[in-house]
Amino acid sequence: MFFVPEAPAQRTQFKPGWNKFSPQDDINLGKRAATDAEKQLPLCNAPKVDAYLTQLGTRLAQKLPTGGVQYPFEFHCVNDKAINAFALPGGYVFVNRGAIEAADNEAQLAAVMAHELSHVALRHGTNQATKALVAETGLGIFGAVFGDSAGGALLTTLGNFTAGGVLLRYSRTAESQADVMGTQVLYDAGYDPRGMAQFFEKLEAETKGKNPPEFFSDHPNPEHRVGRVDEEVDKLGGVPPNARRDSAEFEAIKREVLALPVVKKPSPGAAGAVSAPALPSRNFAEYQANAYTLKYPDNWKKYPGSNGDGASFAPEGGVVDDGTGHSGIAYGLIIGVAQAQGDPNDGKALNSATSQVIQDLQKSNPSMKVTRQGERLRLNGQPGLSTYLSNVSPSGGQETDWVVTVLRPQGLVYFVCVAPQSAYDNYDKTFSLILDSVRFSR
Ligand SMILES: [Zn+2]
Repeated sequence: MFFVPEAPAQRTQFKPGWNKFSPQDDINLGKRAATDAEKQLPLCNAPKVDAYLTQLGTRLAQKLPTGGVQYPFEFHCVNDKAINAFALPGGYVFVNRGAIEAADNEAQLAAVMAHELSHVALRHGTNQATKALVAETGLGIFGAVFGDSAGGALLTTLGNFTAGGVLLRYSRTAESQADVMGTQVLYDAGYDPRGMAQFFEKLEAETKGKNPPEFFSDHPNPEHRVGRVDEEVDKLGGVPPNARRDSAEFEAIKREVLALPVVKKPSPGAAGAVSAPALPSRNFAEYQANAYTLKYPDNWKKYPGSNGDGASFAPEGGVVDDGTGHSGIAYGLIIGVAQAQGDPNDGKALNSATSQVIQDLQKSNPSMKVTRQGERLRLNGQPGLSTYLSNVSPSGGQETDWVVTVLRPQGLVYFVCVAPQSAYDNYDKTFSLILDSVRFSR
């Protein structure tokens, strides 16, 4: 007879969710956002600390189930006292000094890093961006991209850290998954897996009577967090007898981090207080999409969509962060194509497709109101509809959105001209010139 080996513990299995990006997109997008983050964030500039984080992170990453994808992991220390950490898609991990200082031992710091690495393996950043792309056919930077045009356009338009906000807005489900997979990674790397629960208990204790730690604004606290982690530790067969808890190295690094000079953060809102962009140039550049050509002021930047039809145009400083890490176009033009069918000359079809697009816009922009309802016009000889809306501007105050829609064989082509209400008069003429320059392909 032979003995059947004891069945392995039934650990929880996860797979990355719905994603229109490829793992290579994750890497490209993460790389660009990380390059920007390194420029914008105060880094610790402590080579020993970075080397330690890299060593620890690499040890954990070796146990990370990435489904065979080789991510170019990088680990950086950020000179920020807030207890926080984040990972960009593709494996670019940033750990605040505050997280190192708050950890009681190496297992707890490893827990935070394993949690972040799990977001990378489960590709939560681009999963979230995929959902945003589809749900948020709204204004803001996603307005330029519809349906199947995800990857390239997002890479083009969101390839900076500010816009990277969307890559770091995880759902509670994603958080819970990162906790559980992180616990498995800790276990497999030989760490005391209880470090995960301990660190979160600590964070939760911090919230009592105080502002919640920054960590929870990026990583919303799922319900029963600690209980769920404990449950997974049980499934893994409990704490192994030789599990690693601490190291002399960790204690030395923590002392070094505590001794780093403190960098003051810029006051909140400073990021949003962007000065108005330069007025539109009177010289125009030409833009060619599959379905149309147009002219736009030559001091604006173009952000083409990857399917060739969606595109955005904005002046330097026209794309701003609304203060919640969500970028939007405050000044400029967004062009998109929504799915719609109908005879281009059928007023009814144009009306209903336009209402549908406006409803979609309102879903993701709840303060958006129609101020002037569908007036007929002609765009390059084609029947079109002009609608004015008001909305909250990402640069503060109200904005005016002038939406012009035309039914084309590709679907409903919509042009959204955006400027803050107070500055709209400076842009009105430019928007009209751009729309007059539109030539649809035959
Ligand atoms: Zn998280």
